[in-house]
Amino acid sequence: MKEALYEGKAKKVYATDNPNEYLVYYKDDATAFNGEKKGTIHSKGILNNKISAFFFEMLTKAGVPNHFVRIVSDREMLVKKLEILQIEVVVRNIAAGSLAKRIGWEEGRKLPLPIVEFYYKDDALGDPLINEDHARVLNLATDEQMKALKDWGLKINSILSTFLKGKKVELIDFKLEFGIHNGELLLGDEISPDTCRFWDTETGQKLDKDRFRRDLGDVEAAYKEVLRRLTGEVC
Ligand code: UDP
Repeated sequence: MKEALYEGKAKKVYATDNPNEYLVYYKDDATAFNGEKKGTIHSKGILNNKISAFFFEMLTKAGVPNHFVRIVSDREMLVKKLEILQIEVVVRNIAAGSLAKRIGWEEGRKLPLPIVEFYYKDDALGDPLINEDHARVLNLATDEQMKALKDWGLKINSILSTFLKGKKVELIDFKLEFGIHNGELLLGDEISPDTCRFWDTETGQKLDKDRFRRDLGDVEAAYKEVLRRLTGEVC
């Protein structure tokens, strides 16, 4: 196989014969705490490829422009080539993780309304929290794009939360990345238990990467359970 154009913590990106498309390969590698904790989660790449494809297809049907083209193999999907904005968009429904720490709320406390946050994608700085003014000063996106990021974040939150409730999964929070393709803003990256917090609605059991971050065990089983609830597929 050709050399990867880019290798991230959980995925590799390859060029294809089509200059408008990339191939994304999902790895089993897992990192947390800005790369301080490293490990592997067996089969994660296969599960996240399937789970992301499922969410992207759902969002396409709901009218959310995104980079997904099609699944190519167990660990690979074809996507539209994007120039990724250096901003992570996090949407939250329930206090957890860094928000719980920042505002001093206990994990699990419901927010009266969703919160949208922006983080500057910069490993050396540890991805700091920023607002629209920082984005403007750093030239990360136009004002119009910043508004679109917030609007799409809230719209995607409402689509995913409603769907997941029907599967007895609470969408606590999640991270999105966007990019530009032929001048158009598209949702990119992945939507998976690596990038979302999913809690079982009834038991509160964590079905996401917090099982790895916090050494809770049964990480692979949790990712498998997410896929099973979404598609019925037993993997
Ligand atoms: N998240 C992510 N990548 C990051 C940071 C956060 O996918 O680099 C996701 C994380 O899985 C969670 C949400 O964004 O679903 C909010 O994460 P938080 O800010 O609470 O950070 P963490 O607890 O991961 O430090």
